[in-house]
Amino acid sequence: MKLTHQARIALVTGAGRGIGKAIAELLAADGLTVLCVSKNPESCGAVADAITASGGKAQAYPVDVANAEAVAQACSTILAQHETVDILINNAGITKDNLLIRMSDEEWHDVIATNLSSAFYWTRGLVRPMTRKRWGRIINIGSVVGRIGNSGQANYAAAKAGMHGFTMSLAREFASRNITANTIAPGFITTDMTEKLNEEQKSAIKKVVPLQRFGTTADIASLANYLASEDAGYVTGQVFSVDGGMAM
Ligand code: NDP
Repeated sequence: MKLTHQARIALVTGAGRGIGKAIAELLAADGLTVLCVSKNPESCGAVADAITASGGKAQAYPVDVANAEAVAQACSTILAQHETVDILINNAGITKDNLLIRMSDEEWHDVIATNLSSAFYWTRGLVRPMTRKRWGRIINIGSVVGRIGNSGQANYAAAKAGMHGFTMSLAREFASRNITANTIAPGFITTDMTEKLNEEQKSAIKKVVPLQRFGTTADIASLANYLASEDAGYVTGQVFSVDGGMAM
């Protein structure tokens, strides 16, 4: 199916690698201007350069998404250059796994700040022009872990489950302005994040995935591209699992 996109501007956090990179590349290939955010200037810079080199439109914005002031500053810089950001994809995320009994305050707060508070900072910073334009798409990247929990990931599961509640509230709050908000909840996807797992952990995971394999970044990017398109205008407040059947 050929999706319909008007000339739009999208911002993708965590666009330097993995899922965010795949989303940024797909949106750019479909003609959108993509603002690529990552922590490390080299990673978002390389993705934006590669998109531009292949004829697309992209800019890099190195920002620590866990830092409220840095995000607010980036939003005002961006809105001074572009009238609006039409599509916001809150994808940046980290894991700092530990059993609850050993989890430090730092492990808890870093994961909540990077995975959940960041979505609040970016949405607050960019939603106003969307409301004026009466068009917007907010796509939050949750996780299967936010739906079913995971031992050793209380911080991550809390952040991702929080993302789902955040999304549903946005969907209700901004529906009258024609802004949709949805969550994609990936299962285990092959990226740097899951490369940290050892072979034993990987084969244990495959046993609990009905499709018996990890997903690809393209599996997530294609759904994000659909949710960002004109075609998804009547879809809001949903959590879409792309997890090989893990959370049925
Ligand atoms: P990667 O580790 O491959 O990439 C993470 C990206 O997020 C990087 O570009 C990184 O920036 C960026 N990032 C991390 N922290 C910050 C920060 N403080 N400020 C700015 N950018 C930051 O992750 P994935 O692609 O695997 O994951 C993407 C999202 O999908 C995450 O939210 C993750 O929780 C979620 N997810 C992933 C799953 C998986 O199996 N891979 C499963 C379920 C959910 P930099 O390049 O500069 O380091």
